[in-house]
Amino acid sequence: MRPMEQAESRDSQPVMTRARALLRSVFGYESFRGSQGPIIESVVAGQNALVLMPTGGGKSLCYQIPALLRPGTAVVVSPLIALMRDQVEALKHNGVRAACLNSSLDPDERREVEAALWSSQLDLIYVAPEKLLSGFFLDRLAGLEIALFAIDEAHCVSQWGHDFRPEYMRLDVLRQRFPQVPRIALTATADTRTRREIEQQLLSDGAETWVSSFDRPNIRYQVGPKLNARDQLLGFIHQRHRDASGIVYCLSRKKTESVAEWLNSRGVTALPYHAGLSANERATHQRRFLQEDGVVIVATVAFGMGIDKPDVRFVAHLDLPKSMESYYQETGRAGRDGLAADAWMVYGLQDVYQVRQLLAQSNAGLEQQQAERRRLESLLGFCESTDCRRQQLLAYFGEDHPGECGNCDNCLNPPETWDATEPARMFLSCVYRSGQRYGAAHVIDILRGSVSEKIRRAGHDRLSTFGIGHHVDKKTWYSVARQLLARGYLETDPEGHGGVRLAPDCRPLLRGEQTLAIRRDAAGPTRRSRSATRGDGQHPEGWEALRRCRREQAEAEGVPPYVIFHDATLMEMLRLKPTTLDQMAQVTGVGQAKLERYGQQFLDVLNSLSEGGPKEESHHITVDFFRQGLSVDAIAARRELAIVTIQDHLARAVEEGGLPLEAVLDLEQGELTILRDALMSEGEVAMRLRPVYEALDEAYDFKTLKLVRASLRHELSGDDA
Ligand SMILES: [Zn+2]
Repeated sequence: MRPMEQAESRDSQPVMTRARALLRSVFGYESFRGSQGPIIESVVAGQNALVLMPTGGGKSLCYQIPALLRPGTAVVVSPLIALMRDQVEALKHNGVRAACLNSSLDPDERREVEAALWSSQLDLIYVAPEKLLSGFFLDRLAGLEIALFAIDEAHCVSQWGHDFRPEYMRLDVLRQRFPQVPRIALTATADTRTRREIEQQLLSDGAETWVSSFDRPNIRYQVGPKLNARDQLLGFIHQRHRDASGIVYCLSRKKTESVAEWLNSRGVTALPYHAGLSANERATHQRRFLQEDGVVIVATVAFGMGIDKPDVRFVAHLDLPKSMESYYQETGRAGRDGLAADAWMVYGLQDVYQVRQLLAQSNAGLEQQQAERRRLESLLGFCESTDCRRQQLLAYFGEDHPGECGNCDNCLNPPETWDATEPARMFLSCVYRSGQRYGAAHVIDILRGSVSEKIRRAGHDRLSTFGIGHHVDKKTWYSVARQLLARGYLETDPEGHGGVRLAPDCRPLLRGEQTLAIRRDAAGPTRRSRSATRGDGQHPEGWEALRRCRREQAEAEGVPPYVIFHDATLMEMLRLKPTTLDQMAQVTGVGQAKLERYGQQFLDVLNSLSEGGPKEESHHITVDFFRQGLSVDAIAARRELAIVTIQDHLARAVEEGGLPLEAVLDLEQGELTILRDALMSEGEVAMRLRPVYEALDEAYDFKTLKLVRASLRHELSGDDA
């Protein structure tokens, strides 16, 4: 049933009853989150709205449900093609009539979408702003019944922001030409200036403003000292996120490549991403990240905008982000599905030095310089702090978090502080006596009394501070130096030779009028902690089987796995173990359309788990029947499984070498060659079957393609006896 028809048939019911019914039947959710309910009610009633909600907070439902409840087509303005495509794909899978119009469509596709749009066959149309603003398009829209305008990523209207899009400034034309149609502007950017700009530019006729908490409670924040960054990263991935999707941010292009290569050599599938790669490489890496399970992307900040992958389990920073805003935005790409996720960062003396140098060299206007200074100081303060990270992060955006969060490193493992007054004074005094032009490493050598050529030549072995800190180990000295620099007791030398000198703020400390307590750096890589909550905790076989089923379905359709079901939905299936379609319909994330399309298939997987278990693998039973001469249909009937499941069992047996291809597939040698060629490109077996299916003019069904691919995989695995 089309959602619109459903909505219309219940027109007499109160709006929110209908909204909740749609939430269950179309999107598969039981209840609204946060302010979703009141926002929807207000927009359905024809009010304008400004919605400020963090990523992963459920913004899109705020216009998607009103789009289905109000008569006509909803027009969604979105600046990012990849985002549009994902949203439309997800809506279609939920049985909603949605499409997009942008430059990525070929002429045939465009004609098809336009025909549907102008004949009022669409519930939602996603358009790029330039398309919407063309005179012709606006004229034709005037003849159409429009449910609402949704302006996504509304912060693009801000001239001061990173994502400014000039076309957004012209969207006020919607107010002038369609005064009776409600507009809803949405953004995940929190700051007040941007908010005011959105109100002035896009909603000058007034709007109800809805501000959600920007807290992302499922993200665990961890910040630690950089010792050996790569080993620390690998340890973190192994301990908490084996085979999970993640993003690693680095500052330089070169570093992204070397880190990715290194991770691969340690068995983690990792791909680099930066602006220096060819457009083709970037597209391939991004696609693999979206479509495969467990790919780690190692990227510069060029990566992330327009990525709406819900199951990114961690975001790691190997270099400091540019600001607290960047940190919030970049870490916010983790855990959009609401499941446990990590924001993990290591930083060292060198990182602090770079930030300090940036501050020293900044030659922006005075006001801007001060703002920049505050931003960077906040970032350093955040790193060195011993208080709850979440409280500080939210406080930066003007939000209070009641109490400690219990889900950050400082809450989970309260850091020790120690009285570093004496070592700090020694360090500062040594900087002064050695002429305020050497780097921290040299100063530490003097303090520890190392007799190097450099020290002797400079005569630093005759300084009064020579050797006075021999009792403190090197690592602790680096920690002291870093924290002195971070707290502004030291500054970088103006020439940028890597030296440090005293900052005015250090005087009270040097004179003994002030004491200094600093955090004790953790001894080594993060303590052993259990894997983040995932489906693999209690039912590893079941989790793998469900993921496999999802992956195969996604490959066949050429969509990312999360478009079929989110991880949270698979986990709930494992927990509730539905045995009938009615029970399956109760699982969060299983709406009517997905129930009809995939319900049986996933039930079969769950059934085969409960009957066979890991030792008696289900596909072996199928193969036994097959060897006895039973047809696929007969086996399906006998085992009470879907035909497609039996076919998958056979393909799996072929891939494992348990069945020869000829036994299951009757093909001429010539045909087989054509299929094999089509399935191989550049020495690799195709991941996605849909493009192959289309390239072969749909002459062979997916079942056949799957079997031939299985035989190719078997050959390439080199398992031939
Ligand atoms: Zn905390």
